[in-house]
Amino acid sequence: MESSAAEQPAPDTVVVLPRLPERCPNCGGSISQSTVEWVGPTTVRCPYCDTPISLKFERMT
Ligand SMILES: [Zn+2]
Repeated sequence: MESSAAEQPAPDTVVVLPRLPERCPNCGGSISQSTVEWVGPTTVRCPYCDTPISLKFERMT
């Protein structure tokens, strides 16, 4: 990856932020970025029931 000191976003760039659900959809356990296990760039695993959870992406415009 290249790193630029003068990095400027393009005007039409759509920024999407990954959003971790507050609770596991399977067991309802409270999860956070510090408690889940990251198994992929957009996937975490519930520490309670080991269910893989895909992050939701929220558009920031
Ligand atoms: Zn769970």
